[in-house]
Amino acid sequence: MKARLVSLAITGMLLLTFIFWAAGTDFSTFEDNYLRQISLLLAPLGLVIIFTQFVLASRIKRIESGLGLDRMLRWHRFFGRAGLAFITGHVVLIAAYRITAFGELFPTTFIWVGLLALIGFMITAALASTYRIIGLAYEIWRNIHLANYLLFPLVLIHVFYHTADGSALYYLWILLALSYAGIVIYRLYRIVMIRINPYEVTDVRQEAKDIWTLEFSGKKIGYLPGQFMFVQLLRSGKLSSAHPFTISNSPTRENLSITPKKLGDFTLSIKDTRVGDKAFIDAPYGVFSFLNYRHEELVFIAGGIGITPFISMLRYIRDKMPEQKVTLFWTNRNEDMLCFRDELEEMERELPSFKAILVMSDQPDWEGEKGHLSGAMLQGYLETLDQKDFFVCGPPDMTADMIYELKELQVPPARIHSELFRL
Ligand SMILES: Cc1cc2nc3c(=O)[nH]c(=O)nc-3n(C[C@H](O)[C@H](O)[C@H](O)COP(=O)(O)OP(=O)(O)OC[C@H]3O[C@@H](n4cnc5c(N)ncnc54)[C@H](O)[C@@H]3O)c2cc1C
Repeated sequence: MKARLVSLAITGMLLLTFIFWAAGTDFSTFEDNYLRQISLLLAPLGLVIIFTQFVLASRIKRIESGLGLDRMLRWHRFFGRAGLAFITGHVVLIAAYRITAFGELFPTTFIWVGLLALIGFMITAALASTYRIIGLAYEIWRNIHLANYLLFPLVLIHVFYHTADGSALYYLWILLALSYAGIVIYRLYRIVMIRINPYEVTDVRQEAKDIWTLEFSGKKIGYLPGQFMFVQLLRSGKLSSAHPFTISNSPTRENLSITPKKLGDFTLSIKDTRVGDKAFIDAPYGVFSFLNYRHEELVFIAGGIGITPFISMLRYIRDKMPEQKVTLFWTNRNEDMLCFRDELEEMERELPSFKAILVMSDQPDWEGEKGHLSGAMLQGYLETLDQKDFFVCGPPDMTADMIYELKELQVPPARIHSELFRL
């Protein structure tokens, strides 16, 4: 499903909500109680937007395969804020209406139920933007976020109570309630499917100082080179939370693999994984694969561990399309941080149209390119920037800088593809 189709579906739902609201509104008295009427428009619009949050965060494959999980989550953040703004507007306006019309608020149990849900959503939204700043562990934040699944039924109770039976909006709520139940069942079904198909760790190997590769055997899955998966490791009876990692192997090879670099608690513990440990794998996700785009020549731009989607794509190219023209620019602080170095050298010898340019930003005695990767450096190696697709994956600042430089060099945005290692 393409991004345009998803945005059309969301716009269509909002339009339908507006029509349903208009159908149930007496416009002859609009002027007398416009605060109430506008408030009653903001509420269903906000509710529909909040509902789309559950769709966007549900990892439904058909939607994700067109949008990409990172874009789905970006939209999720945007629409989450928009939905909350609408619902807050609803609360403020209805309170203003009640105070001006009756002199007091008359809160009922069902109003408190709605308010409780709103406060819960607001706390989650506030934590989503601040959990890193206040030092809250990702796992704790995520569990709080997941608790929103319990809040949505409260919102449904609130709106069912305040909507006239048989009105158009009433049927819309029934549709949302059923779709919501469908999403919850889908998520539970996926958890069960993942749990009944465990994978086994077949290899644990060190690639560089803080970088390890884990290989897994188990149920075969179809994926594109460059896609990623969520991995939970079961070690010594302890189950980790699910972490996203690029599938560093290629679909042309036997096993799934990941190549994590030490960053925090989980990645630090990768080295303690043993052959025979179990893993639960949810895959594939993401759209960061050259196979998703038309291309004549490929330019891969990696920063540090951002090499993993490219090693997957290069392995695929080596196995299936050795004539494909590819130039890899890979920047690291120094050569101690390089993984897959021997393999890349082999590929350079074997593949006639592959060239790798390694750039060290902090190693004066490096014999190759030194300093920061720049648009000028790209131009120095590439005869022309035309007819090429550019793929960028690395730390957020480096990725943003490279996208900016490519745009400055007049590369059309449709030929720039990027992935951030952060959801
Ligand atoms: C699409 C994608 C592909 C990735 N591929 C690779 C790869 O090939 N190699 C690699 O080294 N890293 C990769 N990462 C990053 C990797 O997921 C994080 O480094 C890892 O989850 C950090 O966990 P931690 O406990 O070690 O670190 P922490 O210090 O706990 O977390 C650091 C940051 O990682 C993110 N994070 C932590 N836990 C999770 C989680 N359970 N789910 C989602 N995000 C989390 C949060 O943004 C957090 O702020 C990828 C990330 C994404 C989104």
